[in-house]
Amino acid sequence: MTELDLIIDLHKNTERQGPGSESDIKRALECMNLSNDTELNIADIGCGSGGQTLRLAHHLNGKIIAVDLCSKFLQELDIKSEQMGFEERISTLEKPMDALPFQKSEFDIIWSEGAIYNIGFEAGIKQWKEYLKQGGYIAVSDITWISDSRPQEIETFWHHECPDIGMASTKIKVLEDNGLTLTGYFYLSENSWINYYHPLEIKFERFLNHHNHSELAKKVVAEYKDEIEMYHKFKNYYSYGFYIAKKS
Ligand code: SAH
Repeated sequence: MTELDLIIDLHKNTERQGPGSESDIKRALECMNLSNDTELNIADIGCGSGGQTLRLAHHLNGKIIAVDLCSKFLQELDIKSEQMGFEERISTLEKPMDALPFQKSEFDIIWSEGAIYNIGFEAGIKQWKEYLKQGGYIAVSDITWISDSRPQEIETFWHHECPDIGMASTKIKVLEDNGLTLTGYFYLSENSWINYYHPLEIKFERFLNHHNHSELAKKVVAEYKDEIEMYHKFKNYYSYGFYIAKKS
């Protein structure tokens, strides 16, 4: 097993693979002026096992195409979506987020939680805005500094983990430079992080036993423990920012 296989295994059968919550989804939706009787065409990019996809299907009218590179997560989503009676409305697609087979102006909403960092905020926005209809919305959450000065320890940690981290103003400028008008911004609460970290913490011991305490499995757990410790120590300096913008 490679390190990536182990990371996927650790995240299997969890509701989410990144920070977020039902209340964040509702709050982001409130930043969009949507009509209840329109059938919407929605893309959820980097959907993971679809924690947010299923909630979107619950809250919105229309169809969702949920995209991820990881087939195991998509299979989980397919199963849950069938159990919840959403199989006609949610379809899954195994594709890289920087080579999507979408048409220009295809979607009313492009949603992406905790995933755009894989190709970088600016590259993602530049590519994905093309798939949005005029008047359509993009809702993206991404790692964001919430203070303009911070201890070196956390600065070094995040620059290594995700060099794309920046202040909200930088990311909002990217949206505006790409013809998108900000209709809402907020950052995720501690609860949304615990929502992600707690189920992982519960799994660590079982995961290590399952992988016979291999060096690689121990490395994976140590890295997540480190990230969680960093969060508790420095949570006042960063979060995920949720950006909602309209193609105008
Ligand atoms: N949106 C989910 C998952 C976030 S984790 C949630 O918030 O719970 C990031 C997801 O991006 C993972 O499921 C990972 O498999 C996917 N991913 C990473 N690189 C990708 C790429 N290049 N193309 C498509 N998906 C990718």
